[in-house]
Amino acid sequence: MAEERTVKIPQHRHCRKCGKAFVGEGLYCSDSCRDSDGKEAKRKLYRYIAAIAVLWAVVIVAVAVAGF
Ligand SMILES: [Zn+2]
Repeated sequence: MAEERTVKIPQHRHCRKCGKAFVGEGLYCSDSCRDSDGKEAKRKLYRYIAAIAVLWAVVIVAVAVAGF
């Protein structure tokens, strides 16, 4: 009678925020990591949108000035 023993290596992930290995669902090891990373990503996105908006405003003004 052979007893099969499978060594289970727990599936682990690495936190997207701090890089720490953790077991469980999701992308982050803790709620605080998820929250801070989400806020940071949102801030970066808003900054990016603002930069694009400024760029477009400059282009529109330049075209308007050149056009008249
Ligand atoms: Zn983390």
